[in-house]
Amino acid sequence: MSSKIRILVPVKRVIDAALKPRINKTNTGVESKGVKFSMNPFCDIAVEEAVKIKEAHKEAVESIHAVSIGPSKAQDILRTALAKGVDTSTLVDVGEQEIEPLQVSKLLKKVVEQKDSNLVILGKQAIDDDSNQTGQMLAGLLGWPQATNASKVVVEGDFVTVTREVDGGAETIRAKLPLIITTDLRLNEPKFVTLPKMMKAKKKPLEIVKPDAYGVTIEERLEILKVEEPPARSAGVKVSSVDELVSKLQELKAL
Ligand code: AMP
Repeated sequence: MSSKIRILVPVKRVIDAALKPRINKTNTGVESKGVKFSMNPFCDIAVEEAVKIKEAHKEAVESIHAVSIGPSKAQDILRTALAKGVDTSTLVDVGEQEIEPLQVSKLLKKVVEQKDSNLVILGKQAIDDDSNQTGQMLAGLLGWPQATNASKVVVEGDFVTVTREVDGGAETIRAKLPLIITTDLRLNEPKFVTLPKMMKAKKKPLEIVKPDAYGVTIEERLEILKVEEPPARSAGVKVSSVDELVSKLQELKAL
């Protein structure tokens, strides 16, 4: 008989993906004052996938728990996750402190143990720091198999088949639970959450804890020296014929 599936979805609060971030005055990061924050898009895909798996395997999936490590305002994205179909949630409140992927992974390991999770679905990367590390490090800390950059997930009993986006194609792998999955863009298209669902989500559990509760000390080991905008692109030139294009390219020594 296959075991019950308890899914954990870690979600990160980041500057809204539709905004163009501006570098702050000290050139040490992006400006966060007066800016809209939302759930990291890859985490949104992870929530959607967890809910899809639960809907398709009602008997097998016991629960979906979401966790966010961040400031008190990260409660907003947990409420969104609850509205999308997550059952329960935890905010690990670290205030305004920046937290590096290894520490995130260490905290997530504690949450996995506490919730007895056997399937963790994370985003492949957070669009603010582009680390692309947390899922991999969590798999290492737990000693679990991992299927990164998933574009398709099929659950069959205790086994999960994952199609991964790899350079120039797709790779399909199979693993037994417990398992770590990280989501790629093509896995699904997250649905918008409706107001009635948002209202109902207010009644769902959202527990707030401090990192000390897990015995994990937050230490910053990296110092950001400088953050720069990409160099501005120089204006292009319009050509009126193929001959002109060829001679321009020759002039630029591109041919
Ligand atoms: P990263 O390794 O920082 O690019 O993040 C990859 C994924 O790890 C994200 O999409 C989340 O699923 C998870 N993650 C990273 N940071 C956090 C955080 N502070 N709280 C919850 N989940 C996180």
